[in-house]
Amino acid sequence: MPAPSPTVRPDLRHTVTARAENLPGVYRFLGPRGEVLYVGKSIRIRTRLLSYFRGEKGGREAELVRTARSVEWDYVPNEFEALLRELRLIQSFRPRFNVRHRRRRRFAWIRLTPGPAPRLVATRTPRGDGSRYFGPFPASRALPRTLRELAHVAGLRDCPDKTPIHFADQLDLLGTPRTPLCIRGETGTCPAPCAALCTQEEYREGVRRVEAFLTGASDELPRLLRARMKEAARAREFERAARLRDRAQRMEDLQERVVEFHRHLHRLSFVYHIQGAGPDEDRRYLIVGGRVRHTFSGRDPTHGEVLGASPQRLRRILREPPEHPWTLSSAQREELFLVIRWFRQRPGELERTRPLEELLT
Ligand code: SF4
Repeated sequence: MPAPSPTVRPDLRHTVTARAENLPGVYRFLGPRGEVLYVGKSIRIRTRLLSYFRGEKGGREAELVRTARSVEWDYVPNEFEALLRELRLIQSFRPRFNVRHRRRRRFAWIRLTPGPAPRLVATRTPRGDGSRYFGPFPASRALPRTLRELAHVAGLRDCPDKTPIHFADQLDLLGTPRTPLCIRGETGTCPAPCAALCTQEEYREGVRRVEAFLTGASDELPRLLRARMKEAARAREFERAARLRDRAQRMEDLQERVVEFHRHLHRLSFVYHIQGAGPDEDRRYLIVGGRVRHTFSGRDPTHGEVLGASPQRLRRILREPPEHPWTLSSAQREELFLVIRWFRQRPGELERTRPLEELLT
């Protein structure tokens, strides 16, 4: 739908009253040099825009209206599209009044480092460096501690990356220190590859346990802690038992979050159909692993076919390998979280979805 031409102050309010309709859409307040000051969305553009002129004196809305020189808007066929458009415009213009979106949510990932003796590290910036990533999680101070506990129970090192590593099955042991470089090697929570006290295969066993835990394939590690907790309780070491119980609980929570997130993503692969008021406003969103990979707009009124959805084009999209969230740019990740939130808050919308393959038939 064509957008109304920008409205110049002092006619801002008048033009909104005269032209804006109560339809879903995305609006932009523009500054003196045409810069985008604020982007918003509403399912009722007219009502929303008029509410800015009733903003509390000294409040953010009143300040925006005072600063803005014009306002423009586009109508979109549905609220889902309005949310997507709003996010994309905010990402591209970074308007200064969009405090809500500018204050980016912080996420952290679990990084299983590459190399002969992998470590577990919490990071905010996934990189394509051969590491394996699990997550994301809302960033928290507790994550590094839980990872240390996980490394201890699985038998992975947590010393600096540059610690020299010598496996027992390496042939050249000349000059290799035989004493572990930290207390963990003495207490048995690390197989101590710094002192050639384990073979590479023995170390890999710990890595496999961690991978099985983080993919939800096994709950061996928290079970191990629960068993130790019972032993401690039997020995009347109640403080130790309580510490082990808390550790097991933290670990179970971590596993549930990472596994549930990926299960949820896997379920978000379908064609989401939102019927519009007319054929032009029909939308089909091709969503794969929570990402909107393509939008088909409209349908042929004579034959009822989805416009632009040729079988070749669809097959090409569906053949693309699934994206892991950590390979996405931060803008793409924000959009992924938007889609996840949309369906989580509105489970009834899943009834408008169809299997991806249905578009091909
Ligand atoms: S025992 Fe050695 S390999 Fe294990 S954490 Fe300590 S320094 Fe690192």
